Amino acid sequence: NRRIVLASRPTGAPVPGNFRLETSDIPQPGDRQVLLRTVFLSLDPYMRGRMSAAESYASPVELDAVMGAGTVSRVETSNHPDFAPGDWVLGYAGWQDYALSDGGDIKKLPADALAHPSRALGVLGMPGFTGYMGLMDIGQPKPGETLVVAAASGAVGSVVGQVARLEGCRTVGIAGGKDKCRYAMETLGFDACIDRRDADFAEQLARACPRGIDIYFENVGGAVFDAVIPLLNTSARIPLCGLIANYNMEALPDGKDRLPFLQALVLRKRIRMQGFIISLDYGHRYDEFIQAMGPWVNAGKVQMREDRIDGLEHAPLAFIGLLAGKNFGKLVVRVGSD
Ligand code: NDP
Repeated sequence: NRRIVLASRPTGAPVPGNFRLETSDIPQPGDRQVLLRTVFLSLDPYMRGRMSAAESYASPVELDAVMGAGTVSRVETSNHPDFAPGDWVLGYAGWQDYALSDGGDIKKLPADALAHPSRALGVLGMPGFTGYMGLMDIGQPKPGETLVVAAASGAVGSVVGQVARLEGCRTVGIAGGKDKCRYAMETLGFDACIDRRDADFAEQLARACPRGIDIYFENVGGAVFDAVIPLLNTSARIPLCGLIANYNMEALPDGKDRLPFLQALVLRKRIRMQGFIISLDYGHRYDEFIQAMGPWVNAGKVQMREDRIDGLEHAPLAFIGLLAGKNFGKLVVRVGSD
């Protein structure tokens, strides 16, 4: 059993030395337990927060403990009446080959999911759910409105853009690099996509939003948000989903404090800005999401590119790359064979 543990807490961007690959015996399931073998492992930005000891809505990973992660696994052996060897399950087995479960924290994949089991970690899983709920519930898209989302080729952003388009919005993506922008427009159907690395990024964004911004789905913060602020319309909505540009910071930067300006803007333009944590705010609405998203995915109306890495041992570098924008699509690690 190979497992990747947190060896030390990062200062700034994580480095390979923060992780350690260990081997141990394959655990033996007890009464009413199942042994799971990981097939796919999801790498997600929130894991950076769990590597730090700082207070958050989720408790940190302990030093020398296995890194946590959503996984798609197969049941290897079962002493549990509800599970049989070979079953595909969605769970939270972490960065390792094998894990035990008492059945309470795993869910069988439905039969129609078995052709693409890793989608349970992406378009039909936590990131897809996040994009859909944040957009529909807080963003409240209306036909003809302009929506902007960054990390547009990624897991959450790709769903936000495609669903907003299905709802009749003009969709403007922001992504890091020309390839990601081309993909966002040609494959995901964004009306425009701006490269955040271009020197005149803010001017390009303004040109792509001639009627201003009605919904800014916040995935990144930082310089992207600076460019968005002057374009916000009266009664704009900002689902505040993530701030990945800040995740490697030890402290928020000194300098020009834009908070009073932002507060005045929110007041004057009656902007609704609301943070959300997908599991805490919307966990009970997962069935509603699947009823909407399942048919869209099956009809090819919503897709999600996977950036698939082979081998558990490559998870640390792939995760470090995720925080630097090196992933192109939903980052998934293939840990074992089907
Ligand atoms: P992605 O698949 O989009 O991968 C992360 C992407 O973030 C990178 O590819 C890169 O895209 C972009 N990025 C990285 N660094 C920066 C930076 N400094 N400035 C701007 N963009 C950057 O990840 P997810 O779709 O899984 O997550 C997107 C956001 O949603 C994250 O902030 C995450 O924390 C948040 N989230 C929040 C949840 C909630 O419950 N609130 C649940 C799930 C996710 P590019 O190169 O194109 O810029």
